[in-house]
Amino acid sequence: MKALVFKNNEISLNEVPIPEIKEDEALIKILKAGICNTDIEILKGYMNFEGILGHEFVGIVVEAKNKKWIGKRVVGEINIGCGKCEYCLTGRKNHCPSRKVVGILNKDGAFAEYITLPISNLYIVPDKISDEKAVFTEPLAAALRITEQIEIRKNDKVLIIGDGKIGLLISQVMKLMNCETYCMGKHKRKLKILENKNIKTLLKGKNIDHRFDIVIEAAGKRGGIKQALKYVKPEGKVILKSTYHGRVVLDISSIVVNEINVTGSRCGPFNKALELLERNLVEVESLIDGEYSLCEWEKAFEQALKSEKLKILFRIN
Ligand SMILES: [Zn+2]
Ligand SMILES: [Zn+2]
Repeated sequence: MKALVFKNNEISLNEVPIPEIKEDEALIKILKAGICNTDIEILKGYMNFEGILGHEFVGIVVEAKNKKWIGKRVVGEINIGCGKCEYCLTGRKNHCPSRKVVGILNKDGAFAEYITLPISNLYIVPDKISDEKAVFTEPLAAALRITEQIEIRKNDKVLIIGDGKIGLLISQVMKLMNCETYCMGKHKRKLKILENKNIKTLLKGKNIDHRFDIVIEAAGKRGGIKQALKYVKPEGKVILKSTYHGRVVLDISSIVVNEINVTGSRCGPFNKALELLERNLVEVESLIDGEYSLCEWEKAFEQALKSEKLKILFRIN
């Protein structure tokens, strides 16, 4: 099969064997896959990952010991736990210390014609959800994770920093939680997508005199957390959503003095994401800025690297 492999700091489109399934796994033929900021960070050295890239996908099960899965259109959770540790045994495989993560840690990803995944990671995609929309299940689940982690009160004033893909998804989720939602970004075109959904937007660089109960850092850049601490109210909450290669130097005294609750936030609930997509409550189609075949990967990444672009998809099978 064709696969987009990252090795020795280089991407190449290789011909590799179709992976074989283990007892509890399914072989999935990938239909579409999305390029995420995490993929871009991996190219810069994040996680020191080598292997097939990609973790956002929709596909069709073509092989599984349990025949009822064959032919099903699925999306897949990206964390694969050991199944034995205290985290795995309490339904928190995302934090299994020996986990594998699709396209990020010790597990080949979805920019390939096929992928294997444990059946327990799979979710059937309702017919109403198109392939293009289904690719957003993973990032939308990540946006929804915030709602599992902190108390969100109706009418809380919330600021999302960053108008990238994840920022636009989080903004919509917070609006659905009935928060007074603001998204700060620097791209008028992206902010317009939110304005169409009655979400307030702030152009970066303009003076902002309000402070917020909750600030969600989704800028994907190192400066984001400093801004988050600047805009949060005393006793407010800061959620960190970006992962990036490299470190941030921070004066943490302001967190102590202002008694800020800082929460890291990663992967979230696929079932809730699929429900929102099925009920058409989140706009994702206008976030797609291009679709390419695997052979066109150079063009696809070139586009994905541009800050004005949103989601770039691979059309694989
Ligand atoms: Zn991602
Ligand atoms: Zn485990």
